Amino acid sequence: MTTLRRPLIAGNWKMNGLQEDGKALASAVAGFMISKGEANFEMLVCPPFLLIPPVNDAIAGSGLKLGAQDCHTADKGAHTGDISADMLADAGCSHVIVGHSERRTDHGETDDQVCAKAVAANRSGLVAVICIGETEAERDNGKTLDVVKRQIAGSVPGSATADNTVLAYEPVWAIGTGRTPTAQEVQDVHAFIRAELAAKLGRGIADGIRLLYGGSMNPGNAAELLALADVDGGLIGGASLKSGDFSAIAESCPA
Ligand code: PEP
Repeated sequence: MTTLRRPLIAGNWKMNGLQEDGKALASAVAGFMISKGEANFEMLVCPPFLLIPPVNDAIAGSGLKLGAQDCHTADKGAHTGDISADMLADAGCSHVIVGHSERRTDHGETDDQVCAKAVAANRSGLVAVICIGETEAERDNGKTLDVVKRQIAGSVPGSATADNTVLAYEPVWAIGTGRTPTAQEVQDVHAFIRAELAAKLGRGIADGIRLLYGGSMNPGNAAELLALADVDGGLIGGASLKSGDFSAIAESCPA
């Protein structure tokens, strides 16, 4: 992490939580943020769509940021069951995750669609948290860098900047499994991602874009991962559902 890039600790709640759970969890994380005052990190929670309004109320004035887990490519229209980035911004979100591997797998989302979602998010004034990462088979075949390169080429808009985009490197095999790459492997992939972003967007923009690591980050491994030169925060699933664990990860950010 360099001081240029303020660490972002982002929680992806996935499809978890009813109203009371969500409000309690959000209030606890908001309370932690307030207790930290001028923290050297930012925190973001991304609840399921239905919990966005109550969570927005629960975190008011705390500095904790609010995001969603997906958005449509269009601003409005005949898209039954979908939610637009405009609606998310209207509901108080500042961020939206796009291209999570569970969306790519469960809903067949392609790089082109992920890119269009990121553009839609930016059009509505939201920061797009674009997820990329290889499967276990791709890793075993030595394809990690090829996959990440292809996903950056396809999923990251040419208009991406440090203000409208965050990238999350999430090896699919590390999500929810308790397994992680070694710290050196994470750093090597993140350095490669930054070099690819520099080739695509220019060095100045690439140096400002925050690169999050995601995949079984927890209070026990966070300090080592967050200290890496090209890791600027974490995208956290399971551990973000426990306010104590999520806060402890944030506390692990280098000073
Ligand atoms: C995720 O789903 O984005 C994630 C990183 O999950 P976990 O932390 O549970 O591995």
